Amino acid sequence: MEQGPIPSPHVLIFPAPGQGHVNAILKLAELLSLSGFKITFLNFHHIHERLLLHTDIEARFSKYHGFQFKTIPSFRLEQPRPADAVRKLLEEVEVKSRPIFKRMVIESNPAVNYIIGDGLMGFVYDVALELGIPAIQMHCISACSFWTVFSIPDVVAAHQLPIKGKEDMDRLITRVPGMESFLRCRDLPAGFCQVSDLSDPNLFILTNQIRQSQALIINSFEELEGPILSQIRTRYPKIYTIGPVHEHLKKKLRSIGKQESYSSSTDLFKVDKTCITWLDNQPPQSVLYVSFGSVTIMTREQLMEFWYGLVNSKKKFLWVIRPESVNNLGEILQELQEGEKKRGYIIKWAPQEEVLAHKAIGGFLTHSGWNSTLESIVAGVPMICWPYFGDQQVNSRFVSEVWNLGLDMKDVCDRRVVEKMVNDLMVDRREEFVRSTAKMAELARKSVSEGGSSSCCLNSLIDDMRVMIK
Ligand code: UDP
Repeated sequence: MEQGPIPSPHVLIFPAPGQGHVNAILKLAELLSLSGFKITFLNFHHIHERLLLHTDIEARFSKYHGFQFKTIPSFRLEQPRPADAVRKLLEEVEVKSRPIFKRMVIESNPAVNYIIGDGLMGFVYDVALELGIPAIQMHCISACSFWTVFSIPDVVAAHQLPIKGKEDMDRLITRVPGMESFLRCRDLPAGFCQVSDLSDPNLFILTNQIRQSQALIINSFEELEGPILSQIRTRYPKIYTIGPVHEHLKKKLRSIGKQESYSSSTDLFKVDKTCITWLDNQPPQSVLYVSFGSVTIMTREQLMEFWYGLVNSKKKFLWVIRPESVNNLGEILQELQEGEKKRGYIIKWAPQEEVLAHKAIGGFLTHSGWNSTLESIVAGVPMICWPYFGDQQVNSRFVSEVWNLGLDMKDVCDRRVVEKMVNDLMVDRREEFVRSTAKMAELARKSVSEGGSSSCCLNSLIDDMRVMIK
Protein backbone atom coordinates (compact mmCIF):
# COMPACT_ATOMS: atom_id res chain seq x y z
CA MET A 1 0.00 0.00 0.00
CA GLU A 2 1.33 3.44 -0.88
CA GLN A 3 2.14 5.58 2.14
CA GLY A 4 0.83 9.14 2.45
CA PRO A 5 3.14 12.08 3.17
CA ILE A 6 4.74 12.32 6.62
CA PRO A 7 2.45 14.73 8.53
CA SER A 8 5.13 17.18 9.73
CA PRO A 9 8.48 16.42 8.20
CA HIS A 10 11.45 17.20 10.45
CA VAL A 11 14.10 19.37 8.83
CA LEU A 12 17.48 19.98 10.39
CA ILE A 13 19.10 23.27 9.41
CA PHE A 14 22.71 24.12 10.20
CA PRO A 15 24.24 27.55 9.35
CA ALA A 16 27.93 28.46 9.45
CA PRO A 17 28.89 30.49 12.54
CA GLY A 18 28.60 34.04 11.17
CA GLN A 19 26.13 36.91 11.41
CA GLY A 20 25.24 36.91 7.71
CA HIS A 21 24.79 33.13 7.60
CA VAL A 22 22.57 32.98 10.70
CA ASN A 23 20.47 35.93 9.47
CA ALA A 24 19.70 34.44 6.08
CA ILE A 25 19.28 30.79 7.05
CA LEU A 26 17.10 31.54 10.07
CA LYS A 27 14.72 33.42 7.77
CA LEU A 28 14.49 30.38 5.49
CA ALA A 29 13.84 28.27 8.60
CA GLU A 30 10.97 30.56 9.53
CA LEU A 31 9.54 30.36 6.00
CA LEU A 32 9.63 26.56 6.18
CA SER A 33 7.98 26.61 9.61
CA LEU A 34 5.15 28.65 8.14
CA SER A 35 4.72 25.83 5.62
CA GLY A 36 4.27 23.21 8.29
CA PHE A 37 7.76 21.74 8.63
CA LYS A 38 9.15 20.87 12.04
CA ILE A 39 12.50 22.60 12.31
CA THR A 40 15.61 21.92 14.36
CA PHE A 41 17.93 24.91 13.99
CA LEU A 42 21.45 23.90 14.95
CA ASN A 43 23.89 26.60 16.00
CA PHE A 44 27.43 26.57 17.27
CA HIS A 45 27.18 27.09 21.02
CA HIS A 46 28.93 30.48 21.21
CA ILE A 47 26.74 31.85 18.42
CA HIS A 48 23.57 30.77 20.17
CA GLU A 49 24.76 32.28 23.45
CA ARG A 50 25.22 35.61 21.71
CA LEU A 51 21.78 35.39 20.10
CA LEU A 52 20.26 34.75 23.52
CA LEU A 53 22.14 37.71 24.94
CA HIS A 54 20.97 40.22 22.34
CA THR A 55 17.58 38.96 21.14
CA ASP A 56 14.41 37.25 22.34
CA ILE A 57 14.96 34.56 19.74
CA GLU A 58 13.70 31.53 21.69
CA ALA A 59 10.49 33.25 22.78
CA ARG A 60 9.97 34.53 19.24
CA PHE A 61 10.21 31.08 17.68
CA SER A 62 8.24 29.28 20.39
CA LYS A 63 5.07 30.17 18.46
CA TYR A 64 6.09 27.75 15.70
CA HIS A 65 4.95 24.23 16.40
CA GLY A 66 7.91 21.85 16.49
CA PHE A 67 10.58 24.54 16.14
CA GLN A 68 13.59 23.97 18.37
CA PHE A 69 17.08 25.41 18.70
CA LYS A 70 19.93 23.05 19.43
CA THR A 71 23.61 23.72 19.82
CA ILE A 72 26.81 21.94 18.95
CA PRO A 73 30.07 22.56 20.87
CA SER A 74 32.14 25.40 19.44
CA PHE A 75 35.77 26.35 19.56
CA ARG A 76 37.51 29.70 19.41
CA LEU A 77 40.04 30.42 16.72
CA GLU A 78 42.19 33.49 17.03
CA GLN A 79 43.66 34.25 13.62
CA PRO A 80 45.08 37.55 12.45
CA ARG A 81 43.44 37.34 9.03
CA PRO A 82 39.73 36.42 8.76
CA ALA A 83 40.41 34.26 5.67
CA ASP A 84 42.87 32.19 7.72
CA ALA A 85 40.26 31.98 10.48
CA VAL A 86 37.74 30.64 7.95
CA ARG A 87 40.24 28.01 6.76
CA LYS A 88 41.12 26.95 10.30
CA LEU A 89 37.45 26.84 11.21
CA LEU A 90 36.62 24.61 8.26
CA GLU A 91 39.52 22.30 9.08
CA GLU A 92 38.43 22.11 12.71
CA VAL A 93 34.74 21.48 12.00
CA GLU A 94 35.69 18.64 9.69
CA VAL A 95 37.60 16.92 12.50
CA LYS A 96 35.66 17.95 15.61
CA SER A 97 32.10 18.85 14.61
CA ARG A 98 31.50 16.22 11.96
CA PRO A 99 31.41 13.18 14.30
CA ILE A 100 29.30 15.05 16.88
CA PHE A 101 26.92 16.22 14.18
CA LYS A 102 26.60 12.71 12.77
CA ARG A 103 25.80 11.28 16.20
CA MET A 104 23.20 14.02 16.79
CA VAL A 105 21.45 13.19 13.52
CA ILE A 106 21.46 9.44 14.18
CA GLU A 107 20.11 9.88 17.71
CA SER A 108 17.56 12.55 16.82
CA ASN A 109 14.02 11.95 17.99
CA PRO A 110 11.94 12.62 15.96
CA ALA A 111 14.08 11.29 13.13
CA VAL A 112 15.55 13.83 10.75
CA ASN A 113 13.83 13.67 7.34
CA TYR A 114 15.77 16.37 5.49
CA ILE A 115 18.94 18.41 6.06
CA ILE A 116 19.76 21.93 4.88
CA GLY A 117 23.46 22.62 5.27
CA ASP A 118 25.31 25.88 4.81
CA GLY A 119 27.23 26.03 1.53
CA LEU A 120 30.29 26.99 3.54
CA MET A 121 30.27 23.69 5.45
CA GLY A 122 30.40 20.78 3.00
CA PHE A 123 30.59 18.18 5.77
CA VAL A 124 26.91 18.72 6.66
CA TYR A 125 25.88 17.59 3.19
CA ASP A 126 28.36 14.69 3.31
CA VAL A 127 26.96 13.37 6.60
CA ALA A 128 23.42 13.53 5.19
CA LEU A 129 24.54 11.56 2.14
CA GLU A 130 26.31 8.99 4.33
CA LEU A 131 23.15 8.48 6.38
CA GLY A 132 20.87 8.36 3.34
CA ILE A 133 18.96 11.51 4.32
CA PRO A 134 17.88 13.89 1.55
CA ALA A 135 19.83 17.14 1.75
CA ILE A 136 20.65 20.40 0.03
CA GLN A 137 23.21 23.17 0.42
CA MET A 138 22.06 26.74 0.96
CA HIS A 139 24.56 29.31 -0.29
CA CYS A 140 24.40 32.62 1.55
CA ILE A 141 26.49 34.35 -1.10
CA SER A 142 25.44 35.82 -4.43
CA ALA A 143 25.14 33.63 -7.52
CA CYS A 144 27.99 35.63 -9.09
CA SER A 145 30.29 34.93 -6.13
CA PHE A 146 29.26 31.29 -6.03
CA TRP A 147 30.02 30.90 -9.73
CA THR A 148 33.40 32.61 -9.39
CA VAL A 149 34.41 30.35 -6.49
CA PHE A 150 33.08 27.32 -8.36
CA SER A 151 35.16 28.22 -11.43
CA ILE A 152 38.48 28.78 -9.65
CA PRO A 153 39.92 25.35 -10.60
CA ASP A 154 39.33 26.24 -14.29
CA VAL A 155 40.96 29.64 -13.78
CA VAL A 156 44.02 27.93 -12.31
CA ALA A 157 44.06 25.27 -15.04
CA ALA A 158 44.10 28.07 -17.63
CA HIS A 159 47.15 29.58 -15.88
CA GLN A 160 45.25 32.79 -15.03
CA LEU A 161 46.44 32.55 -11.45
CA PRO A 162 48.67 33.39 -9.56
CA ILE A 163 48.61 37.18 -9.65
CA LYS A 164 51.99 38.68 -10.40
CA GLY A 165 52.12 41.78 -8.23
CA LYS A 166 50.08 44.97 -7.99
CA GLU A 167 50.50 45.85 -11.67
CA ASP A 168 48.76 42.58 -12.56
CA MET A 169 45.57 43.38 -10.60
CA ASP A 170 43.68 44.90 -13.56
CA ARG A 171 44.24 41.84 -15.78
CA LEU A 172 41.00 40.22 -16.94
CA ILE A 173 40.12 36.73 -15.73
CA THR A 174 38.42 35.13 -18.72
CA ARG A 175 37.66 31.66 -17.36
CA VAL A 176 34.57 32.43 -15.34
CA PRO A 177 31.81 31.96 -17.95
CA GLY A 178 29.59 35.01 -18.23
CA MET A 179 32.14 37.38 -16.70
CA GLU A 180 34.85 37.31 -19.39
CA SER A 181 34.71 41.01 -20.17
CA PHE A 182 34.79 42.59 -16.73
CA LEU A 183 36.11 40.29 -13.98
CA ARG A 184 39.63 41.42 -13.04
CA CYS A 185 42.17 39.88 -10.68
CA ARG A 186 41.23 42.51 -8.10
CA ASP A 187 37.60 41.32 -8.27
CA LEU A 188 38.44 37.77 -7.16
CA PRO A 189 37.67 36.82 -3.53
CA ALA A 190 40.41 38.48 -1.45
CA GLY A 191 42.09 36.38 1.22
CA PHE A 192 41.22 33.25 -0.75
CA CYS A 193 41.63 33.45 -4.53
CA GLN A 194 43.79 36.58 -5.01
CA VAL A 195 46.94 34.51 -4.56
CA SER A 196 50.52 35.25 -5.50
CA ASP A 197 51.44 31.60 -5.10
CA LEU A 198 49.40 28.56 -6.12
CA SER A 199 50.44 26.71 -2.98
CA ASP A 200 48.53 29.26 -0.85
CA PRO A 201 46.46 27.05 1.52
CA ASN A 202 43.41 29.34 1.22
CA LEU A 203 43.10 29.14 -2.58
CA PHE A 204 40.59 26.27 -2.84
CA ILE A 205 39.12 26.44 0.64
CA LEU A 206 35.77 27.90 -0.47
CA THR A 207 35.52 25.80 -3.63
CA ASN A 208 36.16 22.65 -1.64
CA GLN A 209 33.03 23.19 0.44
CA ILE A 210 30.74 23.16 -2.60
CA ARG A 211 29.16 19.79 -3.32
CA GLN A 212 28.04 18.45 -6.69
CA SER A 213 24.34 17.74 -6.47
CA GLN A 214 21.06 17.99 -8.31
CA ALA A 215 20.02 21.20 -6.63
CA LEU A 216 21.03 24.14 -4.50
CA ILE A 217 19.45 27.10 -2.73
CA ILE A 218 20.74 30.63 -3.29
CA ASN A 219 19.63 33.75 -1.45
CA SER A 220 19.21 35.78 -4.62
CA PHE A 221 16.60 36.41 -7.31
CA GLU A 222 16.30 35.71 -11.00
CA GLU A 223 15.81 39.33 -12.12
CA LEU A 224 19.10 40.34 -10.50
CA GLU A 225 21.33 37.45 -11.48
CA GLY A 226 19.56 35.73 -14.41
CA PRO A 227 22.55 35.49 -16.79
CA ILE A 228 24.86 34.03 -14.14
CA LEU A 229 22.15 31.68 -12.90
CA SER A 230 21.87 30.35 -16.47
CA GLN A 231 25.58 29.57 -16.33
CA ILE A 232 25.20 27.76 -13.00
CA ARG A 233 22.30 25.74 -14.42
CA THR A 234 24.74 24.08 -16.80
CA ARG A 235 26.12 22.32 -13.67
CA TYR A 236 23.15 22.35 -11.28
CA PRO A 237 19.86 21.49 -12.97
CA LYS A 238 17.73 22.91 -10.16
CA ILE A 239 18.44 26.23 -8.45
CA TYR A 240 16.01 27.55 -5.89
CA THR A 241 16.56 31.31 -5.84
CA ILE A 242 14.42 32.29 -2.88
CA GLY A 243 15.82 35.72 -2.09
CA PRO A 244 15.97 38.34 -0.90
CA VAL A 245 15.01 36.04 1.92
CA HIS A 246 14.39 38.81 4.50
CA GLU A 247 11.87 40.50 2.19
CA HIS A 248 10.40 37.12 1.33
CA LEU A 249 9.67 36.40 4.98
CA LYS A 250 8.21 39.88 5.47
CA LYS A 251 5.87 39.39 2.47
CA LYS A 252 4.84 35.93 3.59
CA LEU A 253 3.95 37.14 7.09
CA ARG A 254 2.04 40.07 5.61
CA SER A 255 0.06 37.74 3.34
CA ILE A 256 -1.23 35.85 6.38
CA GLY A 257 -1.90 39.03 8.38
CA LYS A 258 1.02 38.55 10.74
CA GLN A 259 3.27 41.36 9.56
CA GLU A 260 3.73 42.64 13.09
CA SER A 261 5.53 39.42 14.03
CA TYR A 262 8.35 40.11 11.51
CA SER A 263 11.60 40.89 13.22
CA SER A 264 14.90 41.44 11.48
CA SER A 265 16.61 40.95 14.80
CA THR A 266 18.92 37.97 14.82
CA ASP A 267 21.78 40.06 16.11
CA LEU A 268 25.00 38.79 17.61
CA PHE A 269 25.69 42.35 18.85
CA LYS A 270 23.81 44.80 21.07
CA VAL A 271 21.65 46.98 18.83
CA ASP A 272 21.73 50.75 19.39
CA LYS A 273 18.34 52.15 18.38
CA THR A 274 19.12 55.74 19.34
CA CYS A 275 20.28 56.29 15.76
CA ILE A 276 16.66 56.10 14.57
CA THR A 277 15.75 59.17 16.64
CA TRP A 278 18.79 60.94 15.22
CA LEU A 279 17.74 59.95 11.68
CA ASP A 280 14.18 61.18 12.35
CA ASN A 281 15.63 64.69 12.65
CA GLN A 282 17.53 64.66 9.35
CA PRO A 283 16.22 65.79 5.93
CA PRO A 284 15.12 63.09 3.44
CA GLN A 285 17.94 61.19 1.69
CA SER A 286 20.59 63.38 3.29
CA VAL A 287 22.51 60.79 5.34
CA LEU A 288 25.12 58.28 4.23
CA TYR A 289 24.93 55.05 6.24
CA VAL A 290 28.39 53.54 6.79
CA SER A 291 28.84 49.96 7.95
CA PHE A 292 31.33 47.25 7.12
CA GLY A 293 29.44 44.29 8.59
CA SER A 294 30.30 41.91 11.38
CA VAL A 295 33.79 40.71 10.43
CA THR A 296 35.76 43.53 8.76
CA ILE A 297 38.84 44.73 10.60
CA MET A 298 40.57 47.93 9.54
CA THR A 299 43.76 49.69 10.48
CA ARG A 300 43.84 53.00 12.28
CA GLU A 301 45.09 54.60 9.03
CA GLN A 302 42.15 53.26 7.05
CA LEU A 303 39.69 54.47 9.68
CA MET A 304 41.18 57.96 9.53
CA GLU A 305 41.05 58.01 5.71
CA PHE A 306 37.33 57.24 5.90
CA TRP A 307 36.88 59.80 8.64
CA TYR A 308 38.50 62.65 6.71
CA GLY A 309 36.82 61.60 3.48
CA LEU A 310 33.41 61.65 5.15
CA VAL A 311 33.93 64.94 6.96
CA ASN A 312 35.38 66.64 3.88
CA SER A 313 32.41 65.47 1.77
CA LYS A 314 30.25 67.71 3.97
CA LYS A 315 27.51 65.08 3.97
CA LYS A 316 25.93 63.74 7.14
CA PHE A 317 26.70 60.17 8.08
CA LEU A 318 25.60 57.41 10.42
CA TRP A 319 28.62 55.17 11.01
CA VAL A 320 28.72 51.74 12.64
CA ILE A 321 32.12 51.10 14.24
CA ARG A 322 32.33 47.78 16.07
CA PRO A 323 34.77 48.22 18.96
CA GLU A 324 36.84 45.18 17.93
CA SER A 325 37.08 46.31 14.30
CA VAL A 326 39.96 48.75 14.91
CA ASN A 327 42.97 48.53 17.20
CA ASN A 328 43.03 51.11 20.02
CA LEU A 329 39.60 52.32 19.06
CA GLY A 330 39.06 53.98 22.46
CA GLU A 331 41.76 56.56 21.78
CA ILE A 332 40.67 57.19 18.23
CA LEU A 333 37.03 57.61 19.14
CA GLN A 334 37.82 60.56 21.37
CA GLU A 335 39.52 62.16 18.41
CA LEU A 336 36.51 61.52 16.21
CA GLN A 337 33.86 62.63 18.63
CA GLU A 338 34.47 66.35 18.20
CA GLY A 339 33.83 66.28 14.44
CA GLU A 340 31.05 63.76 14.92
CA LYS A 341 28.88 66.24 16.82
CA LYS A 342 28.51 68.40 13.76
CA ARG A 343 27.90 66.00 10.98
CA GLY A 344 27.79 62.42 12.05
CA TYR A 345 26.52 59.85 14.48
CA ILE A 346 28.65 56.87 15.47
CA ILE A 347 27.27 53.67 17.01
CA LYS A 348 28.55 50.17 17.66
CA TRP A 349 25.78 48.18 15.94
CA ALA A 350 22.71 49.37 14.05
CA PRO A 351 19.23 47.99 13.40
CA GLN A 352 20.37 47.84 9.77
CA GLU A 353 17.18 46.91 7.94
CA GLU A 354 15.33 49.69 9.76
CA VAL A 355 18.14 52.15 9.05
CA LEU A 356 18.24 51.36 5.33
CA ALA A 357 14.46 51.76 5.10
CA HIS A 358 14.58 55.18 6.84
CA LYS A 359 13.67 58.14 4.62
CA ALA A 360 16.75 60.10 5.79
CA ILE A 361 19.16 57.57 4.26
CA GLY A 362 20.49 58.50 0.81
CA GLY A 363 23.40 56.11 0.39
CA PHE A 364 25.26 53.19 1.93
CA LEU A 365 29.03 52.89 2.23
CA THR A 366 29.29 49.12 2.63
CA HIS A 367 31.76 46.24 2.66
CA SER A 368 29.47 44.49 0.13
CA GLY A 369 28.57 41.54 2.34
CA TRP A 370 25.77 39.73 0.55
CA ASN A 371 23.09 40.33 3.19
CA SER A 372 23.92 44.02 3.34
CA THR A 373 23.85 44.23 -0.45
CA LEU A 374 20.43 42.58 -0.68
CA GLU A 375 19.07 44.74 2.15
CA SER A 376 20.29 47.85 0.32
CA ILE A 377 18.77 46.65 -2.96
CA VAL A 378 15.35 46.06 -1.35
CA ALA A 379 15.48 49.49 0.30
CA GLY A 380 16.47 51.11 -3.02
CA VAL A 381 19.61 52.68 -1.51
CA PRO A 382 22.62 53.22 -3.81
CA MET A 383 25.96 51.91 -2.56
CA ILE A 384 29.63 52.79 -2.35
CA CYS A 385 31.49 49.51 -2.00
CA TRP A 386 34.66 48.91 -0.04
CA PRO A 387 34.88 45.11 -0.08
CA TYR A 388 36.96 43.51 2.61
CA PHE A 389 37.34 39.82 1.77
CA GLY A 390 35.82 36.71 0.22
CA ASP A 391 32.67 37.03 -1.89
CA GLN A 392 32.56 40.80 -1.29
CA GLN A 393 35.04 41.62 -4.08
CA VAL A 394 32.82 39.93 -6.67
CA ASN A 395 29.64 41.52 -5.30
CA SER A 396 31.09 45.01 -5.48
CA ARG A 397 32.14 44.50 -9.11
CA PHE A 398 28.58 43.52 -10.00
CA VAL A 399 27.08 46.42 -8.02
CA SER A 400 29.00 48.95 -10.05
CA GLU A 401 29.73 47.31 -13.42
CA VAL A 402 26.73 45.09 -14.06
CA TRP A 403 23.81 46.39 -12.02
CA ASN A 404 24.72 50.10 -11.91
CA LEU A 405 23.57 50.34 -8.30
CA GLY A 406 26.56 52.32 -7.06
CA LEU A 407 30.31 52.78 -7.09
CA ASP A 408 33.14 50.37 -6.34
CA MET A 409 36.03 51.78 -4.30
CA LYS A 410 37.55 48.30 -4.28
CA ASP A 411 40.99 48.08 -2.70
CA VAL A 412 41.58 51.83 -2.51
CA CYS A 413 41.32 53.65 0.81
CA ASP A 414 42.12 57.30 0.33
CA ARG A 415 40.31 60.32 1.81
CA ARG A 416 40.12 62.12 -1.57
CA VAL A 417 38.52 59.08 -3.22
CA VAL A 418 36.09 58.69 -0.31
CA GLU A 419 35.12 62.38 -0.53
CA LYS A 420 34.64 62.23 -4.31
CA MET A 421 32.62 59.03 -4.27
CA VAL A 422 30.35 60.29 -1.50
CA ASN A 423 29.65 63.41 -3.54
CA ASP A 424 29.16 61.44 -6.74
CA LEU A 425 26.68 59.13 -5.04
CA MET A 426 24.82 61.72 -2.99
CA VAL A 427 24.86 64.66 -5.45
CA ASP A 428 26.48 64.51 -8.91
CA ARG A 429 25.24 61.10 -10.12
CA ARG A 430 22.36 60.85 -7.69
CA GLU A 431 19.55 60.80 -10.25
CA GLU A 432 21.11 58.01 -12.26
CA PHE A 433 21.58 55.81 -9.19
CA VAL A 434 18.20 56.60 -7.69
CA ARG A 435 16.61 55.51 -10.95
CA SER A 436 18.44 52.19 -11.17
CA THR A 437 18.11 51.34 -7.48
CA ALA A 438 14.38 52.12 -7.48
CA LYS A 439 13.90 49.82 -10.47
CA MET A 440 15.84 46.96 -8.87
CA ALA A 441 14.03 47.41 -5.54
CA GLU A 442 10.74 47.03 -7.39
CA LEU A 443 11.95 43.84 -9.10
CA ALA A 444 13.18 42.46 -5.77
CA ARG A 445 9.81 43.05 -4.14
CA LYS A 446 7.95 41.54 -7.10
CA SER A 447 10.12 38.43 -7.02
CA VAL A 448 8.94 37.58 -3.51
CA SER A 449 5.28 38.47 -4.14
CA GLU A 450 2.81 35.78 -5.07
CA GLY A 451 3.63 34.51 -8.57
CA GLY A 452 7.07 36.16 -8.51
CA SER A 453 10.22 34.20 -9.36
CA SER A 454 11.47 33.72 -5.81
CA SER A 455 8.03 32.96 -4.47
CA CYS A 456 7.61 30.23 -7.12
CA CYS A 457 11.07 28.84 -6.28
CA LEU A 458 10.19 28.62 -2.59
CA ASN A 459 6.95 26.80 -3.43
CA SER A 460 8.78 24.37 -5.64
CA LEU A 461 11.49 23.83 -2.99
CA ILE A 462 8.78 22.98 -0.47
CA ASP A 463 7.00 20.62 -2.92
CA ASP A 464 10.27 18.92 -3.89
CA MET A 465 11.29 18.51 -0.24
CA ARG A 466 7.99 16.81 0.53
CA VAL A 467 8.39 14.46 -2.44
CA MET A 468 11.93 13.51 -1.38
CA ILE A 469 10.87 12.92 2.22
CA LYS A 470 8.10 10.45 1.28
N1 UDP B 1 24.02 44.23 10.47
C1 UDP B 1 23.25 44.82 11.43
N2 UDP B 1 23.73 45.94 12.05
C2 UDP B 1 24.94 46.48 11.75
C3 UDP B 1 25.72 45.87 10.75
C4 UDP B 1 25.22 44.75 10.12
O1 UDP B 1 22.14 44.37 11.74
O2 UDP B 1 25.32 47.48 12.38
C5 UDP B 1 23.50 43.01 9.81
C6 UDP B 1 23.11 43.30 8.38
O3 UDP B 1 21.77 43.75 8.34
C7 UDP B 1 23.35 41.96 7.71
C8 UDP B 1 24.41 41.29 8.55
O4 UDP B 1 24.50 42.02 9.77
O5 UDP B 1 22.16 41.19 7.73
C9 UDP B 1 25.78 41.29 7.91
O6 UDP B 1 25.83 40.35 6.92
P1 UDP B 1 26.66 40.59 5.60
O7 UDP B 1 26.49 39.37 4.75
O8 UDP B 1 26.30 41.87 4.96
O9 UDP B 1 28.16 40.76 6.09
P2 UDP B 1 29.10 39.94 7.11
O10 UDP B 1 28.87 40.53 8.45
O11 UDP B 1 28.69 38.49 7.03
O12 UDP B 1 30.46 40.23 6.60
